[in-house]
Amino acid sequence: MTFNDFDLHNELQSGLRDIGYKEPTPIQEESIPAILNQKDVIGAAQTGTGKTGAFVIPIIEQILKDPSEHTQALILSPTRELAQQIDEQIFALGYHTGISSANVIGGADFSKQAQAIRAGVDIIVATPGRLIDQTKVLDIDFSHIKYLVLDEADRMLDMGFLPDVTKIIDKLPKERQTLLFSATMPAQIKNLAKKIMKQPVKIEFEVSTPAESVEQHAYQLHPNKKVDLVVHLLETLEWESCIIFSATKRGTDKLERTLNKRGINAGSIHGDRDQDERNKALNAFKNKTTPVIVATDVLARGIDIANVSVIINFDVPRAVDDYIHRIGRTGRYDKSGIAITLVSRNDGKYFHDIRAKVKDQLKEKDLPDALKRGDSKKKSSRRKHTSSKPKSKKKHQNTETDKQQSKDTSASSSQKPRRRRKPASPQSKGQKKQEKKAKRDSAKKPKPDQKKKARENKRKEPVSSQSKEQSSAGNVIPAERIKKATKRNQNSPKPAKGIWGLVKSFLPKIGK
Ligand code: AMP
Repeated sequence: MTFNDFDLHNELQSGLRDIGYKEPTPIQEESIPAILNQKDVIGAAQTGTGKTGAFVIPIIEQILKDPSEHTQALILSPTRELAQQIDEQIFALGYHTGISSANVIGGADFSKQAQAIRAGVDIIVATPGRLIDQTKVLDIDFSHIKYLVLDEADRMLDMGFLPDVTKIIDKLPKERQTLLFSATMPAQIKNLAKKIMKQPVKIEFEVSTPAESVEQHAYQLHPNKKVDLVVHLLETLEWESCIIFSATKRGTDKLERTLNKRGINAGSIHGDRDQDERNKALNAFKNKTTPVIVATDVLARGIDIANVSVIINFDVPRAVDDYIHRIGRTGRYDKSGIAITLVSRNDGKYFHDIRAKVKDQLKEKDLPDALKRGDSKKKSSRRKHTSSKPKSKKKHQNTETDKQQSKDTSASSSQKPRRRRKPASPQSKGQKKQEKKAKRDSAKKPKPDQKKKARENKRKEPVSSQSKEQSSAGNVIPAERIKKATKRNQNSPKPAKGIWGLVKSFLPKIGK
């Protein structure tokens, strides 16, 4: 079968040729005719199967058949990156068609998005939170929407977006075509589908199993050996680009720093970064300026980056589905790839579940000799090292959940690497002096109840009214405010010094 069989507009065919799609992928083969036949569609397909094209191609075709000056299609996506990616596909496929689209996502220019919405672009690709925010400011006319797409519906559910999605759907015309794509079909998604869809055609491809094209390896090792193994793998494997998944935002930052120190050009991405930083990191990775990216699961789903040759699970994912999604970043449609999981003793249970799912698709590997040799040496020095420092408690709360990533709500202060206290040094004269000084200082320190008050006041500080997504950049003082503040300072007269200053300070009063 070729795309010619769908009898698509020539302009759209040109777009398909431009981006090198010769024949439809299996999911496209089934969903394109169904959507062109005005059917609602539930698509359950593995990532990397061409699912974006499966809905973008027929939507563009339908709009070409019946153009309008109003927005006709609304595509909702759980993450900003996925929304951007969908928008990019619309741009590429629709390049010769004149079809317009806007990306309405958090962290990007609010007023530009508002302009695009007002102008009535053909297709809006949005994250639910930002679209809801826009509806608070704009009187958006949804009455001409004919196509609604819920992409990665299960993920939207995981992220707690369902109430926002439902609010948006309530504003749409009842007479519309609804397309829902989801890797898994939990009961809540099935219920939602029942409520909002009309006799949907179900297109199911085996989900939750990794693509055959991904070679899967695992290494059992001590956590302290993980960085060495990563460096070794990157030095010995043949690869173009590599994603390393870490469980926490803090872990992501730390690993990026460590790898760079070890001479590996790596960037990083996680939900605490503002959108600009996320875009920069992703673009640098896509154009291979930084061929390695360390990421949390924010990069695990839906993101399409060509030629990712290696996936490394620095931490074993906590759910089998996350494993499937992570390794699905490689071996994308018609390509092959390798996924390597580093398993330490604490990961045993999670690894067991993954193993049970993928069975002998996953091969356990022996540590390379170079790392085995270093084992005993490093262990003894490590023991010495740790004995002088207090053991830190495990911090499960740092594990980044999908919800945290998407809404970017977690306080960035929690991401700051904490410094360990220096171990106590032997008693010395200097130290005794310092102790005396500390005693004197402590007299000046606020008393406990003063401290408590200060903490309470801090808590009472007003929270920004901006959207949840915008608040991710909450630590950054808006440029406008900086500008205003600095302007004010520049305008205020500089105090003159010395006697002349004293005289000058009285002059205006004398003048009056
Ligand atoms: P998706 O599942 O939409 O993220 O797509 C995965 C990858 O397959 C992307 O790199 C697409 O550009 C590519 N792709 C989608 N459809 C086709 C097609 N018909 N022919 C070749 N590549 C495709």
